[in-house]
Amino acid sequence: MRDRFDRVIDYARLSITDRCNLRCVYCMPEEGVAKLDHGEVLSFDEIVRVAESLARLGVTRLKVTGGEPLVRKGAADLVRMLKSIDGIASVTLTTNGILLPSFAPALRDAGLDGVNISLDTLDPERYRRLTRLGSVDEALRGLEAALAHFDSVKINCVPMDGVLDIAPIASLARDRNVHVRFIELMPMGEGAIFTPVKRDDVSAALESAFGPLTPCPPPRGNGPARYSSLPGFTGRVGFIDTADHTICSSCNRVRLTADGVLKTCLHMDRGVSLRSLLREHDGTGLDDAVAEAIQNKPAHHQFALRNVAGSELRRMSEIGG
Ligand code: SAM
Ligand code: SF4
Repeated sequence: MRDRFDRVIDYARLSITDRCNLRCVYCMPEEGVAKLDHGEVLSFDEIVRVAESLARLGVTRLKVTGGEPLVRKGAADLVRMLKSIDGIASVTLTTNGILLPSFAPALRDAGLDGVNISLDTLDPERYRRLTRLGSVDEALRGLEAALAHFDSVKINCVPMDGVLDIAPIASLARDRNVHVRFIELMPMGEGAIFTPVKRDDVSAALESAFGPLTPCPPPRGNGPARYSSLPGFTGRVGFIDTADHTICSSCNRVRLTADGVLKTCLHMDRGVSLRSLLREHDGTGLDDAVAEAIQNKPAHHQFALRNVAGSELRRMSEIGG
């Protein structure tokens, strides 16, 4: 469906857990966050009912996210359920990759269409410092498993140590069919205390290492990334600049939190809790509530104005990125 600013909303990110096996410095505090009780988290059946409602309203693509979605038992079963919804053309998943070697076969058999792996550095010490718990070797084994099981693999990198990691991470796209996207750090939650690396600095680091960037069409999917090719590269590099408003005018997405809030802007706490509709009213009025939330999607985020009324106070791990 179209919102009141004539944007077509055809993509939804579904967070299926607030839990994670890592503690990335820009996403979660070291001690973790107060966990939702199991009863607060939507069941798979409830997530599917929301996804069916979204599909009836024109959503065609779903991304399963978290927290870390693969720490939720049965994630592949949910993928299978989502894939069977009428009107859903693609279901993909975003993960830190650590558990992919165990789950990639089941996810592929369930029909998953592609995987995004979050990987900010290839340096073992920096990976450990940035994720607090992870090992880059495990994440790279996850990348190998993804490449062995899926045609569509993307890497999402939030540069954190200036431009140190740009060329090594981009080089993953040189010889393999993987697209590397550089995402500007968002000043939300833990992310607010770090300084984002600017798009121009990322581009300059890439051009100095590999040669000129040439703008090119996006690969499969149509998110906010702008893509370029590099000489001799198999995959493309993409850029997602979140802090300015340029991505908002073409924003095509809504988000469902693990506890059932349909969020219509990443940065604003605007949204509607669908859990009570599902549990106390057996889903009656679900389509109307979802449609009304989409209609009221804000024109743009307000990252520049910190702590304005209505700013999102949840952390990214609670929203799903
Ligand atoms: N655990 C999974 C993963 O890491 O891909 C899925 C959830 S995670 C919240 C989704 C994405 O949000 C990751 O790519 C992560 O890098 C990104 N993210 C988290 N906090 C961020 C922030 N403050 N700014 C930009 N991206 C952020
Ligand atoms: Fe976990 Fe993903 Fe957040 Fe890192 S970015 S702490 S992997 S949810």
